Amino acid sequence: MSRSSLWAIPLGGLGEFGMNMMALRSGDDIIVIDAGMMFPEQELLGVDVVIPDITYLKQNRHMVRAIVLTHGHEDHIGAIPYILGDLNVPVYGTQFTLALVRRRLEERGLLEEAKLHEVAPGQIVRIEPFQIEFLHVTHSTIDCVALAIRTPVGVIIHTGDFKIDPTPVDGRPFDLHAFARYGQEGVLALFSDSTNVERPGYTPSERAVVVRLEELCRAAPQKIVVSCFASSIHRIQQVIDLAGIIGRKVGIVGRSMITNVETAHALGKLRIPDGTIVRPQDLRSFDPKHLMVLASGTQAEPMSSLSRIAVDNHRLISIGQNDTMILSARIIPGNEKNIFRMIDHLFRRGVLVYYEGGRAAPIHVSGHASQEEMKIVLQLVRPKYFVPLHGEYRQLFRHAALAEQMGAVSEEIVLLESGQSIEFTADGKAARREPVPAGRVMVDSGSLEEIEDVVIRDRRHLAEDGVVVPIIAIDKHTGRMETQPQIVTRGFLPSDDGSEILAHARDVVLRTVDQSTTEEKTDWSVIKEKIRVDLKRFLNKQTSKRPLILPVILEL
Ligand SMILES: [Zn+2]
Ligand SMILES: [Zn+2]
Repeated sequence: MSRSSLWAIPLGGLGEFGMNMMALRSGDDIIVIDAGMMFPEQELLGVDVVIPDITYLKQNRHMVRAIVLTHGHEDHIGAIPYILGDLNVPVYGTQFTLALVRRRLEERGLLEEAKLHEVAPGQIVRIEPFQIEFLHVTHSTIDCVALAIRTPVGVIIHTGDFKIDPTPVDGRPFDLHAFARYGQEGVLALFSDSTNVERPGYTPSERAVVVRLEELCRAAPQKIVVSCFASSIHRIQQVIDLAGIIGRKVGIVGRSMITNVETAHALGKLRIPDGTIVRPQDLRSFDPKHLMVLASGTQAEPMSSLSRIAVDNHRLISIGQNDTMILSARIIPGNEKNIFRMIDHLFRRGVLVYYEGGRAAPIHVSGHASQEEMKIVLQLVRPKYFVPLHGEYRQLFRHAALAEQMGAVSEEIVLLESGQSIEFTADGKAARREPVPAGRVMVDSGSLEEIEDVVIRDRRHLAEDGVVVPIIAIDKHTGRMETQPQIVTRGFLPSDDGSEILAHARDVVLRTVDQSTTEEKTDWSVIKEKIRVDLKRFLNKQTSKRPLILPVILEL
């Protein structure tokens, strides 16, 4: 391929939610923008992580020069550890983004070999034949950038995730000037975030949440638990500031919350006055009227601190009558059932629960641009070509329609889905090209092994290691286990007759159930997941096999 053309090849995140990744190729040089993951849907049993198919990059591995990151959200960096193991190319990102990447690489023993290059907004990096300027944008986490990339055929702007927050908590504004500067110069193609295209108007500033949060916290009679995404550093900062204002100390629970707070604080990106933090071991005895706890687990993930707190099975804190719980996060579609069940648990214990929905002042605001902000970016950049990014097809479509209405795009608006490539040529023309392999790759995080397809994966587990079905009977009302658990296996033969292993496996299930609270036991998604995780760990350790584990609960 000649240097006088540019191929843009979306490998994930277009037409689907999550695992954002796009390759740009000119001649024999490829750079990759973002390498995200998506969380598996519930029907993907036993799959821990879903990442984009990188067959195209592997086929052209000698051409891949770098991965360039826009920000540290999982849907942009989550696939890095899986990809670097196979394709150890330099990774460029801002300070906080790389701090998060570093942690993930360290967990998997990949940090030593990794080539990480820190960049700052405003900086220009050359990766021949590309020249990349990092432009600061505002979003729900910190240190986020858009990319302005000079290529042999023109300038490409990739917004990453953004909103235009006029009053950012960290005081660092969206770099509208840079967008305007490139617009003035002429931009070949704009690739832009479509997440919130269904929302008219402007997304409120991150600061908008503080009004309602303060009102709720001042009125709280006992302890307060605030839950938000662990990556929402702006939100965490506002909660810490608010605690100071109303005279409360702050406890932090949940692994991701603790590590993100530590990471941001170590980089000087989170201000925590001395004496603010309550040690975990002191949380239980601390005066509830002066305590505010930050916890992760807003989506009611089965093992998260919030889920445990809701069923009173958390090691460090308990919650009850007249305590306040504020869910300062979006309810992600698909998680409603679990979240509302968790909220029910809390209301049942007499907790004052506040969550997003229908109130005048918000307790959560989005990190993504609404229509008017999308228009501002389109208007400033005025590209020849426009490709909507980051969304399901309807969102890409509506973003395209918005651009069409405005008349801000001089040549063409192009709707692409993952795998569909487009070629731009030096004479300013563009054409769709042959699709490249793209799709979802399932990963079992315990083994770091890739699973091409969930069906193949299940079949292979079945073929090699069989299936293990623990069956327990639980009384729906009392949460009592009425009979001994049974374990049925097919094709799973640990050793000899395996009866000893299975007897132990029964004990594992018994112990898991015994150590769960009544609410966990009657919440079948929770108890099933607990049994699956414990049994998987046990069987893997004892037999080094990985059978498919399908807990079955009989309702009595
Ligand atoms: Zn993001
Ligand atoms: Zn994103």
